[in-house]
Amino acid sequence: MSKISACSITILGMFILASCAYQGVNKYPLTSAYPAPDDLLQRMNHLASKYPSLLVHRIIGFTETERLPIYAIELGKGQRNILVIGQHHADEVLGVALSYHLFEYLAQSYQKDSRVQKILNEYKLWIVPTLNPEGWKVVSEGNARIKRKNNRDTDGNGKLDIRTDGVDLNRNYPVFWDLDNETNPQSSFYKGSSPASESEIQAIISLGRKVEFELAFFYHSSLTGATSEHIYLPAVDEEDEKFVRLQDIADFYAKNVPRDYLRGTYALHYGNTSKVGNARNFFYHSLGVPGMLIEIGGVNKDGQSIIHPPDRMVKRIVRRHEQALIKTLEMML
Ligand SMILES: [Zn+2]
Repeated sequence: MSKISACSITILGMFILASCAYQGVNKYPLTSAYPAPDDLLQRMNHLASKYPSLLVHRIIGFTETERLPIYAIELGKGQRNILVIGQHHADEVLGVALSYHLFEYLAQSYQKDSRVQKILNEYKLWIVPTLNPEGWKVVSEGNARIKRKNNRDTDGNGKLDIRTDGVDLNRNYPVFWDLDNETNPQSSFYKGSSPASESEIQAIISLGRKVEFELAFFYHSSLTGATSEHIYLPAVDEEDEKFVRLQDIADFYAKNVPRDYLRGTYALHYGNTSKVGNARNFFYHSLGVPGMLIEIGGVNKDGQSIIHPPDRMVKRIVRRHEQALIKTLEMML
């Protein structure tokens, strides 16, 4: 059996397992606690006009296939730049909900909450609610509850095959390229035809080169549940002082977020992590920016992964991560 066909079967198996685990406990179509793509611009405009000295938003690039705008919200008056990316993968919408709430809550609390005031006077948060507007739109509009990639027509048949087309944006960064063998365009983890082939990735690289970021947070939500409620750091050969500092920050964040359905808190993953072209590896190794991947979305007592929980739980998850992020930034003051 060739390497590629073995790989395809493994991925198909993972997909079926994930699909089965998904059904029954997840809500789809998405409910009202999940932001709708058409609302983003209006909500950003509203806050920007209300708090002009605190918040601006800009387009940092456009998506590869549909040329949809990719937005970044600049929030705060400080000199220390922090990057927050809410979404790379299409069905991982909890991070988008978190991003929305984060910029609304912080902007609205600035005048009345001295804690928030301190943070926004010290830092500038760059919040990118989604780096994958094409995938977000497909999932938000009820066209696919499970989808990972963008909408590139990878099989070149002139139409979007929702299940198979697209590039995994969190494999497309130009780092450790040759170590990633996800070269099958049908795979959910397809890395793309060449490093940074996707304009979404070119947009974030360009922002990362223009702005000197001190720290980056990348939100995901694990469909299989295998990585849920853990924080992952860049792959390194040696744990130097800078890396240990990042470990301490990520560990602090983890300990400040209770798990959704089980006892205890999030945990930092120690040891090896993927040496592929993902955001945390690129930011750390190519730009010198420490970053962490946070897998939100919990696992219930039956081991089922819940990435599209009902509204009440979405609100709880969002608030918990918001508080953990604020506490982490406070700790770094
Ligand atoms: Zn993800």
